[in-house]
Amino acid sequence: MKKFICLFFVVLLACIFIVPVSNCNADTITTSEDSDNKIYDLQQNEFKYYKITHKGALGIPISGSFPESEVGDIRKYTVEPKYFESISNNKVEITISQVNITGSTDNFDTILKDNKYIKDIKLEQLENNTVKVNIETFGKTNIKVSPVKRRYSSLGDNKYKFTTFIDVTFEEKIKDNSKIIIIDPGHGGSELGTTANFTYEKQLNLDISKRIKENLEKAGYRTYITRNDDTNVGLLDRTDCANLLNADLFFCIHNNSLPLDVTMQCVHMFRGTTVLYNSTAPKPGREFATILMREVSSTIKTNTYPLQDRPNLAVLSSAWCPAVLLETTVETDDGDAKMMMHRINSQKVSDASLRAVNKYFNE
Ligand SMILES: [Zn+2]
Repeated sequence: MKKFICLFFVVLLACIFIVPVSNCNADTITTSEDSDNKIYDLQQNEFKYYKITHKGALGIPISGSFPESEVGDIRKYTVEPKYFESISNNKVEITISQVNITGSTDNFDTILKDNKYIKDIKLEQLENNTVKVNIETFGKTNIKVSPVKRRYSSLGDNKYKFTTFIDVTFEEKIKDNSKIIIIDPGHGGSELGTTANFTYEKQLNLDISKRIKENLEKAGYRTYITRNDDTNVGLLDRTDCANLLNADLFFCIHNNSLPLDVTMQCVHMFRGTTVLYNSTAPKPGREFATILMREVSSTIKTNTYPLQDRPNLAVLSSAWCPAVLLETTVETDDGDAKMMMHRINSQKVSDASLRAVNKYFNE
């Protein structure tokens, strides 16, 4: 009997120690096979910096451009920079291997201007494809360094660019647990969006968005808006702030147009408010989409059009937090357009949005 008990324990111990170790090795082998021999770029003019109340985030871009044939499934491929960081009182030193500095020289003036957390950034190219990023800080912040994957972008000819940011966040030591919400007014600059009934969608989106931002801030949320004026914003640039700031919600504001092939008889079916989300996202936004549509349509008395699952929409598929896109009204519809000419209705939409956000985070 004793022999059996001994044998049992030997087998048990083997399960505990040997099995996980062999799994671990298997993992290491796959990652090294995928990325070991590649040399990436650190484009010094592609650094990102975002700030909100009590927090700043610096994105160090590590990227590579490869043909599809070299990377296999582009949706699964990631650039995996190998790095280590050392953080002391007011210095952060990040040493990144398999990487070279590229792109035009950037003295980081825009990032350093009025920066409460970062005093200076210096890049140093070492031998053996290694780069050292030296960040001098003003101290008194909690600093965290973690990789953040960006969605791939197409360069044409079956070539794709893959970027992973080494995200350095600076959080003030006072405890601020308020949720972080990114507001994204659709279109802007040369991208007008829908134009109908004497309105540019880009302007209407911005008006509603600014009101939402003001409402949310008054209610104690921390917000970041992807554009404050009539400028173009790249699709992936819109979600970089959400991913680098580690946001809790990404909220795009649009106004819809009718599909071109709709006949007059069924036009009424397409009138109304709808919300787009991505069911394949790591954190899908369906729950917030449902609450938001109900709040907005019942406030401005629009019809509701079924929620739309749009996993391929870039802004929804590139955010790591729950993301939704509100199609507030149908701008090509005369009734909707007339209603939205009265700015009181933009305000009503933003009040409804605040109620939806409150419900989403508190229920
Ligand atoms: Zn739009």
